Amino acid sequence: MNGVASLSAAHRVAVFGGTHGNELSGIALVGLWLRDGAEIRRRGLEVRPFMANPRAVQERARYIDTDLNRAFTPENLSSFQGEDLPYEVKRAQEINQIFGPMGSPDAYDVIFDLHNTTSNMGCTLILESSNDHFNLQMVHYIKHAVAPVTCSVLLNDHPRLHYSTTRSVAKHPIGVEFLPCTVEVYRVVERVDYPRDSNGNISAMVHPDLQDCDWEPLNPGDPMFQMFDGRTVQYKGDCTVYPTFINEAAYYEKQQAFVMTKKETLNANGIKVTKS
Ligand SMILES: [Zn+2]
Repeated sequence: MNGVASLSAAHRVAVFGGTHGNELSGIALVGLWLRDGAEIRRRGLEVRPFMANPRAVQERARYIDTDLNRAFTPENLSSFQGEDLPYEVKRAQEINQIFGPMGSPDAYDVIFDLHNTTSNMGCTLILESSNDHFNLQMVHYIKHAVAPVTCSVLLNDHPRLHYSTTRSVAKHPIGVEFLPCTVEVYRVVERVDYPRDSNGNISAMVHPDLQDCDWEPLNPGDPMFQMFDGRTVQYKGDCTVYPTFINEAAYYEKQQAFVMTKKETLNANGIKVTKS
């Protein structure tokens, strides 16, 4: 690898709000940009604001039938378009029609999906791949652009998910070159559930020393949960980890008290935009 990747210029970008209908920042911003898109217009780029789950937005609910943000599986996207499908599965198919098909040359180059969290994570970017050099360069750029505000990067490496961010044929190449760079990320290593009793009921809360300490080091022996009977559950691992999504309200149904991550530095190749 020579450290420079040649990519076609990105020319179609979508900004999604309301993937979860109870997360108001993206809903407000996309609503604003649907009425007047001047703020997100860029020369040579088609930028499209889009309300991802309008029925959930209308009902101020996270979703109607099932979590849209988990609905883009190959099985869902290829299942027969019948009336009986859950609303979000039908919606995932529509979104895949408009902005994909996923993995095809026709797919949009970039989709920004705007979310909120009830955890104390601050501004966070979520990466789906550790070797998508386009996205790594973009994340590096955003982190520097928002400084001194910190913006952590959560790496949720998922080999089955591939977003076609760079394969489209560009009509208006942007003459920008990016030097190789490094990005500090927090790689998801484990999803930790609450302690439960023999009936499956939650029997502890996140320990006060851990609550709101997203992205901070959790060392072996540090308190992790406080049992309802008063005992403390310590972290028993053998190395320092960085919990995040701590006590996220939407994740009770996903049996998840927090996500355990490890800190890592990724190297992004330099990027040279090819003419096309
Ligand atoms: Zn969300």
